Amino acid sequence: MTTDTVLVINSGSSSLKYELIQAGSGLSVAEGSVERIGEDTSLAGLRVGEQEVRRDGAPIADHEAALRTAFDLFDEAGANLGAMGLVAVGHRAVHGGQTFYEPTLVTDELIAKMDELAPLAPLHNPPAVLGMDVARKLLPDVPHVAVFDTAFFHDLPAPAATYAIDRDVAQQWSIRRYGFHGTSHQYVSEQAAVFVERPLTSLNQIVLHLGNGASASAIVGGRAVDTSMGLTPLEGLVMGTRPGDIDPGITFYLARTAGLTIDEIDELYNRRSGIYGLAGANDFRELLKRIDAGDDAAKLSYDIYVHRLRKYIGAYLALLGTTDVITFTAGVGENNPDVRRDALSGLSALGIELDEHLNDSPARGPRRISAATSPTTVLVIPTNEELAIARACLTVI
Ligand code: ADP
Repeated sequence: MTTDTVLVINSGSSSLKYELIQAGSGLSVAEGSVERIGEDTSLAGLRVGEQEVRRDGAPIADHEAALRTAFDLFDEAGANLGAMGLVAVGHRAVHGGQTFYEPTLVTDELIAKMDELAPLAPLHNPPAVLGMDVARKLLPDVPHVAVFDTAFFHDLPAPAATYAIDRDVAQQWSIRRYGFHGTSHQYVSEQAAVFVERPLTSLNQIVLHLGNGASASAIVGGRAVDTSMGLTPLEGLVMGTRPGDIDPGITFYLARTAGLTIDEIDELYNRRSGIYGLAGANDFRELLKRIDAGDDAAKLSYDIYVHRLRKYIGAYLALLGTTDVITFTAGVGENNPDVRRDALSGLSALGIELDEHLNDSPARGPRRISAATSPTTVLVIPTNEELAIARACLTVI
């Protein structure tokens, strides 16, 4: 076993994903997940090489039980974690405010800060804190490192990072645009440069990370100059359960006139909006099935999703002036040719021409989907946040 093996943990509200990675080579030694934590039945699995072990069914009460299950699965697969020469555990961390953004050793202070910032990332910070707490307890002898989603956007130019609100209030409360999914945007933009065989520093890029959460970024020479998420991961594109950009006046109206509490509005925006709020399903595959079955609400929600995406692409094309590469990534971006086509159709006058055949190909892996003659190269690049997190860990320990 090499000495750069990192266990990466991505702890969600009802799931825990984990991957064992050799950071240098990028080899994924093992990966698995525990889903439906806290529900009546659970799904737990681990793949080690070609071997897959599963333990589905029994309820898994909390994140501690989930991580214990994961470790049991490693044992069952004959891959004892303790004997694997782990050098670090890397944790995906979303919001660390102004204090924490670089990859940082997990300490009590860091955990307390992330806890304090939970109102700014209610879907992400609480489970991440749980994951870190439990993992530190179960693997006390290895350094634990938090890798923040905000790091890539920490140096956004001031006009992109600053909200046009009273500057004293903004300063007092550290209100700025932080941006999220940064690990993915950075990784994908670097891979795009490798793919087109040009130096990262020479490229203007747009990255579209379209998963359950979704965000766009504009990147010049490897540095982010704008991104669609803001103080919290609510701003920007339409997402699985989040609305993206809305008029802040809606909040006051719901509070004063509709009588909703702040907590109810928070829940509405974080869990019951976006595709789910519009069409009743947050999974894009389910949405497509409903569209095929003639569901008008599903079709409208798809159209709203694409409309917002096009607005951001247009804004970033204007910001960049010249765009060398546009890259789609994450679940929807990697797998859904319709979204890619509808996001970029009719833009040949702006130098963007898709190759329909390449776009429709079920290929996996990094690939070009623009026409050979298209001035802007359009790519699909699978994101690999786990690998990026594993590599970031090694810069700290
Ligand atoms: P996250 O990491 O934010 O949970 P993912 O990047 O895994 O999100 O993306 C999840 C989304 O990708 C879901 O909406 C899912 O339906 C969609 N997705 C995954 N595979 C496909 C596919 N083959 N076709 C269309 N959408 C897909």
